[in-house]
Amino acid sequence: MNRKYRKTVIAGNWKMNKTPSETKEFMTAFKAILPKGRWCDVALCVPAVCIPTAVRAMRETRVGIGAENMNANASGAYTGEISADMLTDAGCKYVIIGHSERREMYGETDADVNAKVLTALNAGLTPIMCCGETLEQREAGVTMEHIAMQIKMGLRGVSEDKIRKVVIAYEPIWAIGTGRTATPEQAQEVCEGIRAVVRKLYSSKNARAISVLYGGSMNEKNAYELLAQPDIDGGLIGGASLVPEKFVKIIEAANQPTE
Ligand code: PEP
Repeated sequence: MNRKYRKTVIAGNWKMNKTPSETKEFMTAFKAILPKGRWCDVALCVPAVCIPTAVRAMRETRVGIGAENMNANASGAYTGEISADMLTDAGCKYVIIGHSERREMYGETDADVNAKVLTALNAGLTPIMCCGETLEQREAGVTMEHIAMQIKMGLRGVSEDKIRKVVIAYEPIWAIGTGRTATPEQAQEVCEGIRAVVRKLYSSKNARAISVLYGGSMNEKNAYELLAQPDIDGGLIGGASLVPEKFVKIIEAANQPTE
């Protein structure tokens, strides 16, 4: 992390877990133990039906609520989909875009991710744009090429004045939900590489200001070491964000000295 130049963001991704009633229970427990300091931004991205409950519960806290996906179109005949305006009107501040589960299971392409990023930014949402390599790509030594392509394609058309509003999450697919975490060195190397791609596309100032998160089995035990890396500005957390005590410990790990 480097709190001097950029925000630290700890974001939860609940995926398809918890009902609205369970959301209420979680928020009550979470609010009771939420650390008082203001050392990082906290986001909880929850299933669409849980958004109103989550927003209501977190109204007077610094926790921003987000969605896990959205449609790139403004409105229309897209049965089952949710627009950016619906999310902002419901009180969302964040939206996860291009999670590997959406890319793998629902065929989302880099072009889809790009369209959604542009729509989210126009609506005033903070997109958490995900990228990451498969194990096969890592073993073939093409991790950085693959990620550079995802970043370039995902950010196409994002203007100089909007790039700092994008949060990028590096999530190696082999580490998501597997209990197999990237080593701090592996995660640092790619997050540094992502910053270099942003530097080339935009400028050193923008690269220094953008928050790059790590995601992939981050938990209360490994968070401190991962967040100690200079280019890892926070985490996107699945499983451990479902348990208030674990998620709070990760938020607390963001309260460590930085350069
Ligand atoms: C995720 O869902 O983005 C994720 C990183 O999940 P987990 O922390 O469970 O690996």
